[in-house]
Amino acid sequence: KIYKNIMELKGTIRVFCRVRPLLLVDGVGTEGTIISYPTSMEARHRGIDLVQSGQKHSFTFDRVFDDKALQKDVFEEISDLVRNALDGHKVCIFAYGQTGSGKTYTMMGGPKPEDKGLIPHSLEHIFKTSHESEKLGWEYKMQASMLEIYNETIRDLLSTNPSYALDMFWSRGKGHVSAITTVDVCNIEEILSLLQQATRNRFVGSTKMNERSSRSHFVFSLKIFGENKINEQQVQGVLNVIDLAGSQRVSSTLAIGDRLKETQAINRSLSALAAVISALAKKKKHVPYRNSKLTYILEPYLSGDSKVLMFVNISPNPSSGGESLCSLRFAAKVN
Ligand code: ADP
Ligand code: MG
Repeated sequence: KIYKNIMELKGTIRVFCRVRPLLLVDGVGTEGTIISYPTSMEARHRGIDLVQSGQKHSFTFDRVFDDKALQKDVFEEISDLVRNALDGHKVCIFAYGQTGSGKTYTMMGGPKPEDKGLIPHSLEHIFKTSHESEKLGWEYKMQASMLEIYNETIRDLLSTNPSYALDMFWSRGKGHVSAITTVDVCNIEEILSLLQQATRNRFVGSTKMNERSSRSHFVFSLKIFGENKINEQQVQGVLNVIDLAGSQRVSSTLAIGDRLKETQAINRSLSALAAVISALAKKKKHVPYRNSKLTYILEPYLSGDSKVLMFVNISPNPSSGGESLCSLRFAAKVN
């Protein structure tokens, strides 16, 4: 680990940047690189420089992973954070970035088994640690739920009727989602199979699969109830992992009609999220949860004592330079 205890270093919000490698899909002729990293000791692993229109832009985050970082390197830096969910904390991990920048790879994983991402790694860590704590008297119960937000409509992905849109309502000043399906889970296999079910349900009724998934937010939620049989202590934690819809500048698309509305809905919810996170970071009294469905439903998990990590995923493709610069600026604002 670069830092012995990065999660203890600062308050509630951390931002990690991850650059994916150049891929065949980036095409030949993408040799010219626009991304570089500072070499000084203190900026190493924390800084990233991007050249756009002949100008160099420098950013600093809590951690920067270059294109050589492996999934296990990334997980090593966040295992402490994930563990916090078992200890009764509210943990939210987001992936932000344009479509194709590596969000789903970081969260779920790649095609090869050794490329498994943050969710499967986290589940392994949580179950291993919970079994170890049994010796100390702890017993855990867990519940999973999964949903998608597309065009400001919430869909319950574990419902027997996956095209059913959920209602939002307010009670005691907090946003609630009507009767979302929560499933009791006892092991990793059960959760992974629910994830597969959720993925299948995401595609019900959508013709272009990848497009739909990249234009909606996916929210994975694992509630953890712990009870200590020896000292009767109880804890309630949650791990939320959110694969956000692909960010996209309206100006970079020639979107019209429904497509334009979709892009605007995505941008509105992403700025609402940024506003909430930055209000939490600044410890503001008023946190504007009510400006999007995403921040509505995450409100119970996004408060002053939550632990929030945002990945900003970056494509190294020079043709994406403009989008990458926007993503880095977004992340720098949140931090
Ligand atoms: P997004 O979810 O942001 O649209 P993906 O996660 O689907 O992007 O990544 C786009 C492509 O790049 C996929 O083929 C994925 O397997 C690959 N990819 C992303 N990040 C990495 C990485 N760190 N190493 C290797 N391949 C990656
Ligand atoms: Mg994706």
